[in-house]
Amino acid sequence: MTTKSKPRLIAVLPGDGIGEEVTQQSVRVIEKLNALMDLGLECQHEPVGGTAYDLHGTPLPEKTLELAKAADAVLLGAVGGPKYDSAPRELRPERALLGLRSELDLFSNLRPATLFPELAAASTLKPEVVSGLDIMIVRELTGGIYFGQPRGIEQSDGQRRGFNTMVYNEKEIERIARSAFEIAMQRNKTLCSVDKANVLEVSELWREVVTRVSADYSEVSLSHMYIDNACMQLVRAPKQFDVIVTTNMFGDILSDAASMLTGSIGMLPSASLDSNSKGMYEPVHGSAPDIAGQGIANPLASILSVAMMLRYSFAQTKAADTIETAVKAVLADGQIRTADITVDGNAASTSEMGQAVLDKLQ
Ligand code: NAD
Repeated sequence: MTTKSKPRLIAVLPGDGIGEEVTQQSVRVIEKLNALMDLGLECQHEPVGGTAYDLHGTPLPEKTLELAKAADAVLLGAVGGPKYDSAPRELRPERALLGLRSELDLFSNLRPATLFPELAAASTLKPEVVSGLDIMIVRELTGGIYFGQPRGIEQSDGQRRGFNTMVYNEKEIERIARSAFEIAMQRNKTLCSVDKANVLEVSELWREVVTRVSADYSEVSLSHMYIDNACMQLVRAPKQFDVIVTTNMFGDILSDAASMLTGSIGMLPSASLDSNSKGMYEPVHGSAPDIAGQGIANPLASILSVAMMLRYSFAQTKAADTIETAVKAVLADGQIRTADITVDGNAASTSEMGQAVLDKLQ
């Protein structure tokens, strides 16, 4: 007698704008892969962001949060849009992301910046500088200056004074360092820790703890770099990096800069993990109000996020490879390009690109 293993529940939260359009294609990929490889994946959908605000008056309804907590992984589209810019801060769509990250304790944000050789011309940097680029940025996501207390704007000496606090304790630094060393072990065993230890005490502690953790990973070669130099090196000679680990704010800035090296933000997936490999997977891009509703968004970032989900949360390396190979094959064919990555002006729709990937899945 064969016993069927417990289904793996994926909370699908499409969100706003193109988030909904690209997530649709990812769900098609999940369904086809499920049928091909019998992965036991099950999708349940709930609204998030502006869509949820319109329906339920809050960007992160209780039911959405409950599903995200119960699920084995979360697939998110994108949230936000000009319609919500005047909403009170705590009701803005982006609050849903912060809520999910902190409620699920997703402290480790993985942002690969990979340049598919076929798209080298889409980068603003010279092809020889970026061709073959394959960097993984590991950003601490739940601490640092974005969450540190005290914070606020107060009246002081007859004028307003704004302040935030950059704070990390040893445990927070240690767990993100371990997460990065583990990733480095799966790649080229090279890790660069980025800080501002020449100016900030919090960075001094960061550097000390990362160095201490490195004793447990003697195979990994660790280096340290100041954030200002790292920004410079990232555009000067990005291929010198393999895995980068850094704080919440420095990682926010560095990973956006790295994403631009690859030409289109429509190609870049991301993962945010807790300490048990449960994760939230989402494209790096936002809801793109300028093209939302037109059916022309590139769905590959979202589809590649599914590959990351299979790799990091479900340990389904073969299934993850199958998706990545299908995406590479579509790009190598050169027949189909969405508007953001076309070179000859011919642009496929979101669903045509989704279908092209589906056709290559085997
Ligand atoms: P964006 O990423 O939505 O768009 C930036 C530019 O890239 C736009 O010109 C857009 O058309 C293009 N683009 C983005 N994704 C694309 C894709 N898949 N295919 C083709 N082109 C694509 O960033 P923005 O315009 O600064 O922000 C729009 C909204 O999204 C804002 O409300 C912002 O707060 C929100 N946002 C959400 C997330 C998220 O949900 N994780 C991330 C970033 C921004």
